Amino acid sequence: MSAAVLIDPSDESVIREVPDTPVEEVDAAVARAVRAQRGWAALAPADRAQALRRFADAVDGAVEELARLEVRNSGHPIGSARWEAGHVRDVLEYSAGFPERLNGRQIPVAGGLDVTFHEPIGVVGIIVPWNFPMTIAAWGFGPALAAGNAVILKPAEWTPLTALRLAELALASGLPEGLLQVLPGPGAVVGERLVAHPDVRKIVFTGSTETGRKVMAGCARHVKQVTLELGGKSANVVFADADLEAAAASAPGAVFDNAGQDCCARSRILVERRALDRFLELLEPAVKAVSVGRPGEESTEMGPLVSVAHRDKVRGYLELGTPVAFQGTAPEGPGFWVPPTVLLPGSRADRVVTEEIFGPVVSVLPFDDEADAIALANDTVYGLAGSIWTRDLGRAIRVSRAVEAGNLSVNSHSSVRYSTPFGGMKQSGIGRELGPDAAVAFTETKNVFLSNG
Ligand code: NDP
Repeated sequence: MSAAVLIDPSDESVIREVPDTPVEEVDAAVARAVRAQRGWAALAPADRAQALRRFADAVDGAVEELARLEVRNSGHPIGSARWEAGHVRDVLEYSAGFPERLNGRQIPVAGGLDVTFHEPIGVVGIIVPWNFPMTIAAWGFGPALAAGNAVILKPAEWTPLTALRLAELALASGLPEGLLQVLPGPGAVVGERLVAHPDVRKIVFTGSTETGRKVMAGCARHVKQVTLELGGKSANVVFADADLEAAAASAPGAVFDNAGQDCCARSRILVERRALDRFLELLEPAVKAVSVGRPGEESTEMGPLVSVAHRDKVRGYLELGTPVAFQGTAPEGPGFWVPPTVLLPGSRADRVVTEEIFGPVVSVLPFDDEADAIALANDTVYGLAGSIWTRDLGRAIRVSRAVEAGNLSVNSHSSVRYSTPFGGMKQSGIGRELGPDAAVAFTETKNVFLSNG
């Protein structure tokens, strides 16, 4: 049987092998999920809520263990990994509120009573990437389970360890066997089978736009629901009237967090031309101060990239010859390291400006006025996130309405909260996750008319 060999990205040591799931086992898992889903959906809403709370408690008790697994498997700094594990617990707790709040509607009609129900879809396939293995999984499985579905989760080949542990915690906390299954293995085998299997009625996919396109085409063949959360090339727009100190101090975190392997990374900093020199002066010490090092150390802010293949891809962008403004530091020796790097591209059409690098590399570009800032921010196939720095409230409103992106923040860089909707416009995706409507996305609306005749 084939297996993935997992490598610690900070020192290149072998962690362990994880066997791939063969196609026949995917089919057997789907059959188990179909059975488990029927029983789960038949439970009283309060009982489903209670079961999710117990799962959240089990995750809460394992925060440190999950965090340490992510440090080893993905190279995330320990502080970030603890936040991620805590976020999984929070998503589950928030999701536990859904079963008893999935209200239908009563619609006034003649001759009787008309009501709607949010019925579960059935079995949901969740395909996740390697950049935030446990949080992105939870955004899918929390609300999907809450709405009465069974879930089959395919982790990325490089980073399956936290997902496998979460499935064990689910079982240990009392969730029925077969309700949440994790099937490691290659996308071309396990992922494609989930997309093609007729009993998997919805796919939630997070990853590259290229693979997302294939997944969507596969779902179309089966007229299957699909949510896509894809790439980004988000803009951090800094106007001259902004608090430049605060904008420059926070800009490194907004792009170098998780070593830039973040679909929301603000990887284009757009600065009003008359403030450019001052902004760069303030940005340089902030970039040089980013603490890059061993992910297990408490003081580390940025770790290595996830794999040698990905490190080489990111380095390839640094070899294109774009002028470097300044760089931070990175450890020598084994590990997949790239220092935080600030580029000053000569053209808005450079590849480093238009393509998602998914590493600790940011381009700084000047703009002339508000209209130019909006045009430049929107000059991308993506539309996931972005930030706007200004002290002018009217401008903040105008620009945030004009930028074509699903998640914007003004004078901050927040993108993800479990209680607010998240997702992209344009080629960044279709559908929304999280927020008050998260569970509705895992239901079919059924309309029932009861005649009074
Ligand atoms: P992919 O989009 O290929 O992988 C994401 C997930 O999809 C993984 O679980 C992968 O499995 C699976 N998958 C791959 N092919 C298929 C398929 N044909 N059918 C179903 N599932 C499939 O991302 P990569 O890991 O290749 O990363 C490439 C680039 O994508 C990055 O450099 C980055 O630019 C971007 N990216 C964006 C992310 C985001 O959050 N928006 C996340 C990750 C990457 P497997 O692990 O086995 O390949």
